[in-house]
Amino acid sequence: MPENRQRDATSETWRALQGAPTGTDLRTEGWRQEAAFRLLNNNLDPEVGEEPESLVVYGGTGRAARSWDAYDAIVEELQSLGDEETLLVQSGKPVGVFRTHEMAPRVLIANSNLVGNWDNWEHFHELEAEGLMMYGQMTAGSWAYIGTQGIIQGTYETLAELASERFDGDLRGRTVLTAGLGGMGGAQPLAVTMNKGVCLAADIDRERIQRRIDTGYCQEMTDDLDEAVMRTRKAAESGEPYSVGVHANAADMYEALVERGFVPDVVTDQTSAHDAIEGYYPSGYTVEEADALRERDPERYREESLDTMVRHVDAILELQERGAVAFEYGNNIRGQVEAERDREDAFDFPGFVPAYIRPMFCRGQGPFRWLALSGEESDIYRTDEAVTELFPEKDRLVRWIELAQEQVEFQGLPARVCWLGYETTPVPETPLAGDLPVDREELTERALFALRINQLVESGEITAPIVVTRDHLDAGSVASPNRETENMRDDSDAVADWPILNALLNCAAGADIVSVHDGGGVGIGNAVHSNNHVVLDGTDLAAEKAARVFTTDPGTGVIRHADAGYDVALDEADRSNVDVPMRDRR
Ligand code: NAD
Repeated sequence: MPENRQRDATSETWRALQGAPTGTDLRTEGWRQEAAFRLLNNNLDPEVGEEPESLVVYGGTGRAARSWDAYDAIVEELQSLGDEETLLVQSGKPVGVFRTHEMAPRVLIANSNLVGNWDNWEHFHELEAEGLMMYGQMTAGSWAYIGTQGIIQGTYETLAELASERFDGDLRGRTVLTAGLGGMGGAQPLAVTMNKGVCLAADIDRERIQRRIDTGYCQEMTDDLDEAVMRTRKAAESGEPYSVGVHANAADMYEALVERGFVPDVVTDQTSAHDAIEGYYPSGYTVEEADALRERDPERYREESLDTMVRHVDAILELQERGAVAFEYGNNIRGQVEAERDREDAFDFPGFVPAYIRPMFCRGQGPFRWLALSGEESDIYRTDEAVTELFPEKDRLVRWIELAQEQVEFQGLPARVCWLGYETTPVPETPLAGDLPVDREELTERALFALRINQLVESGEITAPIVVTRDHLDAGSVASPNRETENMRDDSDAVADWPILNALLNCAAGADIVSVHDGGGVGIGNAVHSNNHVVLDGTDLAAEKAARVFTTDPGTGVIRHADAGYDVALDEADRSNVDVPMRDRR
């Protein structure tokens, strides 16, 4: 078996750690290296990652390291890495250490990138089998995954936006049909009930449903569809939030609902359809039977998987026809059915970004998230207070923090996520630590909040450094024609220069870890994206990095959308003094 398909952990270090170390003792030469060390291990915490024994973190086969030997080597390199050195990681394997400087990133990562003509699953799988590459997904290979808590706010925001546009502001009395209760998709039932709605969700893997119930993301599980429909209807009629996971293949279940004449208010799906072989399950098999078929005959598995996706998409289209609001939730099921089965009508329902997220991207807003390296929940609660004190006028944000405190369980290192953007806000008289490289009045929302956290770390109110990171799904960091950049106003959907510029600029601005990946949520050849981390350790160095990176990062989101001609982005650029050269000569 190639090393990269190892199913059992061979690393003594991982066995001993089983998650990120916590507390204030360092196992490395400094907090920036320590953050990388803790984040890598946080991804592989059994509470956080989906299958850490095989290095799989989430999203089909998204891995944190290429093999267990590569994991051990990364850990060793991080332990000896100096404050003026940079480690290079190529598709999950450490390949070099160079002398750089303090302001430079400590770790640079490139995952799953292939040259255009070779940029497809077939070639990727050949290289993967040879042990030359791994699938980095988005936050798996960049060590930024924080469990289902990472996606919950994005899912909550998407549904809240949908509810404002299509219903009366929330989902009370509305039913949402979906599927896929994995690492990311598992956030859906809770996001629906947080918006006061009712969620009916299919997953073929009973253990995945149970995991969501155990962690408070889903309320009940059943094998009986009629019972699930009855409870769903009853809850919707009484306006009670409710969620049920049905142990079933999604295509079979959606078709059965069509036959029964059940039309949900909203229909979507988050199975790992981006990967027909290792992500999606064909109809007619249990998980164990399908896993055996995959081993025995991957080509047959792929064909049956794609046939099931066609039925799945047809059922969504039929439900849309009958009145449901349908959208694809970023798993490329439409792209798979169009490309592999020549069905252009697969795109007759929209993706979630053009439908609900793009206006936020135009303002540079995206999923800003942070983790307490101490492992102390109280450190995150202090940051919750800080963000609501800084932005009391943002009702949705304040409500989100309250809901998250009540309903979202921490997984691994305590973490929080909320959408913040560029938008230069008048800075209240809040103490901020460190020398600032920009005028205080020009700080972006993200920079202002990061600097406030830096001050709380410096003063000791927060017990150890906080690391700030984000999803690759952000305003200026992704090119993905079937998802984040679907249907751009100027048809620039497939232009991948933007995420590369974003990564290069964030290196120049001093981010501590920077990565560029191919594939992500929509599969090899379908997306290029980047992310970054900044460690807030209370020092002047951290303040300088944070003030710069949290300006450049959301700023690329504003210019990317301004360049594409979105008025909201052009207005944001004017309001926030973002320089958009040649804007009048487009
Ligand atoms: P995952 O691999 O952890 O989970 C996928 C789940 O789908 C598993 O529980 C699996 O049992 C189930 N499943 C697969 N095929 C099925 C079928 N035919 N019927 C019923 N259940 C089936 O993946 P994840 O991290 O939850 O991500 C899911 C998808 O969403 C991926 O394609 C991912 O790339 C995409 N994604 C979207 C976003 C977003 O912002 N919308 C974010 C992250 C991931």
